[in-house]
Amino acid sequence: MPDIPNHLASQLPDALEMLRVMVGINSFTGNPEGVNRLARYTADCFALLGFTAEYVPSYNPAWGNHLVLSRPGASGRSIAMISHLDTVFPPEEEKRNNFHWQVEGDRIFGPGTQDIKGGTVMIWQVLSALQACAPAVFNTIQWRLFLNSSEETYSPDFGEVCRARFGLGCLGALVFEGEGRSNGERKLVIARKGRATWRVRVLGRAAHAGGGHKRGANALVQLGQILNRIAGLTDYSRHLTFNVGVASGGTVLNRVPHEAVAEGEFRAFDPAVYEEAKGAFLALAGPGAVRSVADQYACEVVCEILTESRPWPRNPGTDRLFALWKQTAEELDSPTGGEERGGLSDGNLVWDAVPTIDGLGPWGDNDHCSERSADGTKVPEFLGVSSIVPKAILNTHAIIRLASAS
Ligand SMILES: [Zn+2]
Repeated sequence: MPDIPNHLASQLPDALEMLRVMVGINSFTGNPEGVNRLARYTADCFALLGFTAEYVPSYNPAWGNHLVLSRPGASGRSIAMISHLDTVFPPEEEKRNNFHWQVEGDRIFGPGTQDIKGGTVMIWQVLSALQACAPAVFNTIQWRLFLNSSEETYSPDFGEVCRARFGLGCLGALVFEGEGRSNGERKLVIARKGRATWRVRVLGRAAHAGGGHKRGANALVQLGQILNRIAGLTDYSRHLTFNVGVASGGTVLNRVPHEAVAEGEFRAFDPAVYEEAKGAFLALAGPGAVRSVADQYACEVVCEILTESRPWPRNPGTDRLFALWKQTAEELDSPTGGEERGGLSDGNLVWDAVPTIDGLGPWGDNDHCSERSADGTKVPEFLGVSSIVPKAILNTHAIIRLASAS
């Protein structure tokens, strides 16, 4: 039987060719034809390993299909692997910024190289290594791969797609977002903040700014006061941040504005802090302090939560998986730690259903960036090629350990 490092090293050219084709397919979330084309190509790649495809429509008809790939196993135990199909780059932006597959030294630039097509190919590499080097594990486990069509936007339905298919004997959900790095150590993701988006509307009372000023209840002034209070809910000591994102209001200069609106988001790691923050935000609703001088008519403040992605806090299931990866990394003499990240992933949607770990993809940087400047101050998304094989070795050994430990 070939050994795992040799297999992964010799197979790297095939993996990179697969990645090159994937990066060449524009799969912006708002380009469902592209997302579906990438899904079909991905299904073809995994068909070589015995996987069958199921295409699940997104709840939003403007987006492509989620992709579920399955391979039966001899035991009742399963392992889930999660990636996504979409990127944040519209085709016009790729063209405008001449952003495409480009190899320069150890870096491969291109849309989705790091977020997350490099992660999808990593799944293929790991499964191929298991098939060649650990066939007993490969054939025993039921494999379920979930690829979100719309991870880069709000897609709570994808969590339901996964949860309905994990099955009872699911040992873990492995998420292949890119790894972090600091001080020469790779970082796996073991917690992520939750995020809610919100809107505040203020209904005031219009008045002529010259003749009826005292009758007016100024919605913009009221909104300003409320936004200050919202900003004041930020508490760095508890990793709670509120961001006021956009605001607008008023119509013309000679009118006391009767309407104003703002939107933003808040984030927290701790579910209790998150709930408390949500309560504090919603409590701002009701009659405001800005009133008409003529008759005390009060502006009305309306608070809404628009979307919610719950926090993925530290928990025993994740800690158990992290311990497996860490122990494996120590044996491979490959320094590895964990990090709690502010950004969301599909891990937020599934961690409370099965033990979840994230950051299992290769290393890269500048995800969500497509611009490049001549002076080097702007560098687009890239994948670090030399991170691929060592990470695949670590993942393969850790998965063998996960399959045998249970
Ligand atoms: Zn991603």
